[in-house]
Amino acid sequence: MRACVLRAPAAIETNPLEFVDVPTPRPAPGEVLVRVTACGVCRTDLHVVEGELPPRKSPVIPGHQVVGVVEACGENARRFPTGARVGVAWLYRTDGVCSYCRSGAENLCDSPDFTGYTVDGGYAEYIVAPQDFIYALPEGFADEQAAPLLCAGIIGFRSLRLSAIQPGGRLGLYGFGAAAHVAIQVARHWKVDVYAATRDARHQRLALELGAAWAGGTLDSPPALLDAAILFAPAGEIVPAALKALRKGGTLVLGGIYVSRIPPLDYDLLYQERVIRSVANNTRQDGQDFLRVAAEIPIHTRVEIFPLRDANQALNALKNDAISGAAVLDCRL
Ligand SMILES: [Zn+2]
Ligand SMILES: [Zn+2]
Repeated sequence: MRACVLRAPAAIETNPLEFVDVPTPRPAPGEVLVRVTACGVCRTDLHVVEGELPPRKSPVIPGHQVVGVVEACGENARRFPTGARVGVAWLYRTDGVCSYCRSGAENLCDSPDFTGYTVDGGYAEYIVAPQDFIYALPEGFADEQAAPLLCAGIIGFRSLRLSAIQPGGRLGLYGFGAAAHVAIQVARHWKVDVYAATRDARHQRLALELGAAWAGGTLDSPPALLDAAILFAPAGEIVPAALKALRKGGTLVLGGIYVSRIPPLDYDLLYQERVIRSVANNTRQDGQDFLRVAAEIPIHTRVEIFPLRDANQALNALKNDAISGAAVLDCRL
């Protein structure tokens, strides 16, 4: 099969992904082989490619927002028939036995696998995945529209939940890429007023189009104090500005897997029971709940489509804020 392979992390400007032939994987017991039609491009992929996340498998095929069709089933894999449309997300597998898995917090599993990081992902014609960790996808989303739901959507949804934002509340979104452009649609559906702080003028315009009450620069003060905020940009220097915009008792959720160094904070910014918390991965329940809500609303994802062979180009565009909404690879050759 054809795939985009990362042999060693390097700056994306050097186009480190190689579009090459590799053996098509075979499904082990309990796994399915999925013929990939579309794979979303996530900022986490950029962190894998550039090495902000230390290599866990090398070489590796990135990509963890995978939409495709079940092509073959391994032994004892009967959950999906061949031909079923499925999604593979970031949480590839957990051990199922650690204290986190047993207490409903499988997102914090002690020995998890992550798609496109510790195991091969979806920048490829085929992927294998455990049947218990993949998702049936709601009708009504074309493959390329569905792909960004699988990480940008699910992680944004978990971030919204952890922010404890209530109907009628004021929510700040810092950074306005793929995750925020989905999260705002859920927030608006919940009658939440959204304040979008992002450095790119096109992203500010998109936020306003999607119903933001205000859009400004990342360090600008929103016109009202926020009940909660979510930081999607991987930039720790935004944390003090985001805290400053929070009301007493408000929560700042850090939605990314990687954030650059957070500068020293004056305690005043945190005092009055403000909370900073991170989001790590997601549970399968988050994924199922989000996909149901996404179909009910329904969410409209804005996507820019690149051919699989141009994954480097898609990631370069993402790094340069040149994607409006989400980038998606068309993996049908
Ligand atoms: Zn576990
Ligand atoms: Zn992701």
